[in-house]
Amino acid sequence: MDAPVIVLGTGPAGLTAALYLGRANLRPLVIEGPQPGGVLTTTTLVENYPGFPNGIPGPELVEAMHLQAQHFGATILPGQATGVDLSRRPFQVRVNDESHSCQALIIATGASPNLLGLESERRLFGRGVSTCATCDGYFFRDKEVAVIGGGDSAMEESLFLAKLVRSVHIVHRRDQLRASKIMQQRVFANDKVRIIWSSIVTEILGDPASGVSGVRLRQLRDDTESILPCHGVFLAIGHTPNTAIFSGQLEIDQRGYLVTHDGPATSIPGVFAAGDVQDHVYRQAVTAAGSGCMAAMAAERFLEGISH
Ligand code: NAP
Repeated sequence: MDAPVIVLGTGPAGLTAALYLGRANLRPLVIEGPQPGGVLTTTTLVENYPGFPNGIPGPELVEAMHLQAQHFGATILPGQATGVDLSRRPFQVRVNDESHSCQALIIATGASPNLLGLESERRLFGRGVSTCATCDGYFFRDKEVAVIGGGDSAMEESLFLAKLVRSVHIVHRRDQLRASKIMQQRVFANDKVRIIWSSIVTEILGDPASGVSGVRLRQLRDDTESILPCHGVFLAIGHTPNTAIFSGQLEIDQRGYLVTHDGPATSIPGVFAAGDVQDHVYRQAVTAAGSGCMAAMAAERFLEGISH
């Protein structure tokens, strides 16, 4: 299929881009991606998206965005982009076995939070296991929580959670944090946060009906096991931006994020990026939606420019 603009991804960035493109009569083709709705569908209640004073479940919010984009003429195609050719226009996008072409491309493929890879983590995800303290921290008011990781994200999540919960137990696999000094100092100064050093989580305890009850830890120095009782487990072990198919074609930074300039522009004119695939700092639904709007407006201007 030929479309003036193809959007990759159906999180808040992709769907907002699609909505704006649709309203500009550009009839975008939107490739749904492997996780329709993006990471927001893995959260429970979204309480920080403006306009919903009582919050809105993540899946409901993206479903509303999906309907709104379709209402304005976006075609949403199930499937995943498996390859792109950005060497010349029209750009080619491969989805399953079909090739689609476009004059402008908006990449909103997001970033996937890294997981530990435990079976219990998969079973209890969204039932006490979370990758977003800003999204889910509120459900653990006055409770005990564990945060896994030793980077800036883990510190930030812990400091955020410390305002809500009874205490935060950071579980870090080494005896030294990776986080910046300033974040470390803030954590050390917070008496609601303690660090369990040189330890890994080998199992998350609990069941989906009643939620998490604790984590099984292995202390790596002496190979001993213990159980830390807690109600919430926040994983902050990094994100992997979904940029593998653009490697060698677009500028990508050391961490794998698409490099943008002048707002949503990438290293190839006519290719724009929005949302978590180019943002490792804010990573909020509202900022993703905002950058999706910017990408759509930039694509519209680009198309106007090449038609004259
Ligand atoms: P990160 O810096 O890569 O840290 C990931 C942490 O998770 C590391 O401590 C790592 O341990 C640990 N980890 C990784 N895989 C693990 C596993 N399988 N099991 C247990 N632990 C594991 O990621 P990040 O904290 O998300 O930060 C990403 C980037 O964003 C960084 O550049 C950071 O500075 C930036 N950031 C900045 C701020 C801020 O300044 N406010 C906030 C958030 C993020 P090791 O240390 O042993 O490798």
